[in-house]
Amino acid sequence: MTVGVLAVQGDVREHVRTLERLGVATRLVRRPEHLAGIAGIILPGGESTAMWRLMVPTGLAEALQQELWAGLPALGTCAGMILLAREITNWPERYLGVLDVAVERNATGRQVDSFEATLSADGLGEIPAVFIRAPLVRRTGPRVEVLARWGEAPVLVREGNVLGASFHPELTGDLRVHTLFLEMCKEGR
Ligand code: GLN
Repeated sequence: MTVGVLAVQGDVREHVRTLERLGVATRLVRRPEHLAGIAGIILPGGESTAMWRLMVPTGLAEALQQELWAGLPALGTCAGMILLAREITNWPERYLGVLDVAVERNATGRQVDSFEATLSADGLGEIPAVFIRAPLVRRTGPRVEVLARWGEAPVLVREGNVLGASFHPELTGDLRVHTLFLEMCKEGR
């Protein structure tokens, strides 16, 4: 099984290392042809606007959106979740739009306001979570499962083949969010 990591911008390497620790082959996804044959894809943290600007001209944005609608499993962390969201409450654009949530960008403040918290996540237990200029979920659609919250706000959500995290599981050394995602990849489309 090979899992793709969107590799146009952001903390790609940390996700690749996490997948390697779990014994999974990885592929850096930069162009539409890199989507062929992958069992799932991770959209990393970084800067969602920058990623989108780099994905549109090559056709990767459109090809990835089609794959996601067709059931390709995806995990989006932080900026990656913003890319997946149906709506961004404080931004005029939307990107892939495949996860039925509204997110507020930069809802936890600026870089200097970054923090770590322990979350109680359904099926995963107590997990450490790093928040860096994180998006928080302000609305969830009827098919969206909330797996963890920080205060009132959902921060780990799943809708079918798509898993979104406000935080950065790739930065803590804890493997449980990635393990859940790999189970989704093994289940297939
Ligand atoms: N604030 C970033 C964005 O809007 C996300 C930050 C992150 O991924 N750590 O894309």
